[in-house]
Amino acid sequence: MTAGSGAGPELRGEDVPLDALAGGAGGPGALGPLLATVLDSLDAGTALRSGPLPAGSPGEIAALVADALSAADGRGALARLTELLAYGAADPADPACAAHLHCPPLAVAAAADLAVSALNPSQDSWDQAPAATALETALLAELAALVGYDPARAAGVLTSGGTESNLMGLMLARDQKLDGIVELDGIPPGGRPCILASQAAHFSVQRAAALLGLGELAVIAVPVDHQLRMSTEELERALAEASWAGRTPIAVVATAGTTDTGAIDPLNAAADLAGRYGAWLHVDAAYGGGALLSDRLAPLLDGIARADSVSLDWHKLGWQPAAAGVFLVRRAETYVSLARRAEYLNPVDDEQAGYPSLLGRSLRTTRRADAFKLAVTLRTLGRAGLGGLVDACHELALAAAAAVRAEPSLELHAEPVLTALLFRYRPPGPTDEATVDELNGQLRRLLLRTGRAVIGRTELPGVGPGRVRLKLTLLNPHTTAGEVAALVREVVGAGRRVAGDRAG
Ligand SMILES: *Cc1c(COP(=O)(O)O)cnc(C)c1O
Repeated sequence: MTAGSGAGPELRGEDVPLDALAGGAGGPGALGPLLATVLDSLDAGTALRSGPLPAGSPGEIAALVADALSAADGRGALARLTELLAYGAADPADPACAAHLHCPPLAVAAAADLAVSALNPSQDSWDQAPAATALETALLAELAALVGYDPARAAGVLTSGGTESNLMGLMLARDQKLDGIVELDGIPPGGRPCILASQAAHFSVQRAAALLGLGELAVIAVPVDHQLRMSTEELERALAEASWAGRTPIAVVATAGTTDTGAIDPLNAAADLAGRYGAWLHVDAAYGGGALLSDRLAPLLDGIARADSVSLDWHKLGWQPAAAGVFLVRRAETYVSLARRAEYLNPVDDEQAGYPSLLGRSLRTTRRADAFKLAVTLRTLGRAGLGGLVDACHELALAAAAAVRAEPSLELHAEPVLTALLFRYRPPGPTDEATVDELNGQLRRLLLRTGRAVIGRTELPGVGPGRVRLKLTLLNPHTTAGEVAALVREVVGAGRRVAGDRAG
């Protein structure tokens, strides 16, 4: 294997055939000038935008898109539309873009992902992805060890994210705990299975229950404390009540890093209780799994290794381009109900001859090699390098909380656990809770409309007014404490404007 062997010469932009392929000997030569175009257009589009997102209403942005789509054709389409994409982005690399678990990807990860796009391996059969199949298997063993599983006994797969991983965990729980009853007869009316998850668990848990034929009402919402952490006593009570009522608790879902506050449910207590009631323990660590990279924060996830299955998302605290979800089980044999034999993908004789297949690990068939960018990133930065980025974002969240506390018109909900915090704007003087809710919603839309900041808006569990909160999710490790303080001042300024408009 010599460098450049077989690679064609790089073409000039105007000589790249419109239908050139990305792979093969000529692929890199054709991609070179197209990439140069993409990079120039990313620069140009980003320079046109003065904040983290374009100023304007959704209708104005849609009109820009319609214009660009009608004007772009032929060789110019790539430049024109890439510039539009960059201009019209909510760019998570901008320090004032801090609403969601929406990370700025690392350049090395995006570059690695380009290699995957060019070669297009598909993980459903070895003959579409020889090296990528082995690489995914090796990466999953590393991630199993990171969680604390025995890599020789664990198994898993790359997924589209926490939503798919949660579905898989609950599907295996159903199949293990209902013991084939579902396959034969449908859900037994008497046994009425249930799933216990906190009020702050991700909505994909309910959706998974519905998809699995259990119904959304099969999910019992366990109350949380002020930080939005599941209460152990309430979980114990809910499990006891469910069994008295003759229901079968098939799974406990513990969240390690709730989407809004980063709260980490009591994992050891959840494992004890799930064990006592014969339920599967699924730990949704889509957000908090990144803490495993940090020596300082990893102890918060103590107990995760006792889970039967785990969701991790490296497109959150992992700085990967989406998607980079991971689903893991502690014992490979619990995967049995997902096994599939498709004669055209994993015939028995191929497997007996030593050709491995990942088909039975996934709900999907065609599947991108999302493991590759993560393997490259882990090799490039190491766990310690990535852990340093996690720590930097944790520090930023603490700095943001301090900035919020220092503003008399802002009210901090709770100290950050990981990298997110909730707070709200409260205008001076008596204001009823419903009005405070409205003002917070309005100030967030004002920041979007002016293109000055992207901050989150959510609601605390419960009913009635006074539950609207603003959210900062800090995932840009290069943002400075000064930039976070400036973002907090933007929020106060927007709050004054909407409160003033209302008063005036
Ligand atoms: C983000 C998130 C999910 C959903 O993950 P996707 O990757 O968006 O599918 C599930 N659970 C938690 C706790 C999350 O934060």
